[in-house]
This record gives sequence, C-alpha cells and structure tokens, in this order.
Amino acid sequence: MSFLPKTIETLIENFQKLPGIGPKTASRLTFYLLHMPQFELENFGKNIVSLKKSVVYCSVCFNISSTDPCPICSDEARDERTVCVIENPIEILQFEKTGKFKGTYHVLHGAINPLNNIGPDELKIGELLNRIKSGKIKEIILATNPNMEGEATAMYVKREISNLKSQNSRLNSLKITRLAHGLPVGADLEFADEITLGRALEGRREF
Ligand SMILES: [Zn+2]
Repeated sequence: MSFLPKTIETLIENFQKLPGIGPKTASRLTFYLLHMPQFELENFGKNIVSLKKSVVYCSVCFNISSTDPCPICSDEARDERTVCVIENPIEILQFEKTGKFKGTYHVLHGAINPLNNIGPDELKIGELLNRIKSGKIKEIILATNPNMEGEATAMYVKREISNLKSQNSRLNSLKITRLAHGLPVGADLEFADEITLGRALEGRREF
C-alpha cells in the first residue's frame, strides 16, 4: 500500500490494532474519516488524547470513572451489601441496562488465563477480599463470563471467599451466588442482551 500517503497508511495500522478490526475495515474507517468535517475530526482526536487522562479507577469497585468513588459507589440508594463481581467495566453497562440490579459492583479487570500469563495476582481479587473483610457485604454475585476463563475465575474467587469465611465467623451469613444458566456458553456478558442478562440475574443460584 506504499502508494498511499504516509498519514493514511499509519492510521490504517492504528485502526488494525483495535479488537475485531481487520485490514479492510481499517481502510474503510480511515477513508470515511477523510470525509468528516475538520472540526469533527479535531474533536474526535481530542477525545482520544484525553481518554486516559480524564479517567480514574474507583478505589472501591475499580470501575472506570471521572470521580473517585464512582457515581455508583457514592449513590446512597444503591445496596452496598450486594456486590456483583464482573471481569470488565463495560459489563456494568450491560447490568445497568437490565434495570434489575440495585447493588454495587467489583471489577476484576480480567479473568484467570494461564495461557496469557494472567494469574489471580493480576486481578483485583485481593481488593475484593478486603471489601468482604469489612463484614458489610451479604451477597457476592459471581458474574464472570460463562466461558473457561470466567468459570476458573469464579471457582478461584469462591474458594478464597470460603477460606475467609472459615477464619471469620462474622462472615457466616455471606452468600455466594452465580448467574443462572441460560446465558450462551462461551459467550461474553458484554454481548448478552438485557432481557437474557436480567433473567440470569434474577435466577441466580447459590454457588
Ligand atoms: Zn465504584
């Protein structure tokens, strides 16, 4: 593609680094941008530049937010005794869309995946255990993805919580639940529709 101006070539390469974008889509997006008005392009660029600078992690749930604690953790109407444990911040959007969850979240930032060298220490599991130690939480909903990594992560977290419970009688009434089946196996929660996800949440079982 050496006949293309360097800027275009580089932008195509940039797009290709995004998930799910191959060379064809990358070219299409780049050429599409050429037709956008200059001010829109500048806004787009500015948003990308400030993306990470304006975003912090909530020190309670590790959601991405512009404030710490995040709006969900600082909302007194939310039930902080129920904590939904998820892999990625984007899944919060899916749960919020169901309108069926009034608790709070804990974002692990990934799942255990030995092939990619992601062990429990790379995830926010220790932080979750610390939250549990406060004794305020009554239910932990393990809402990791219904795939191999998600299941392995749920099993690991469950074991860690059980260890904690055996050492601390104050945690006796803490329940651990897992989303009901009915979610497509091997799928990402990110892509579940809100009705399916809402049902899976309502039908959660002791784990
Ligand atoms: Zn938070």
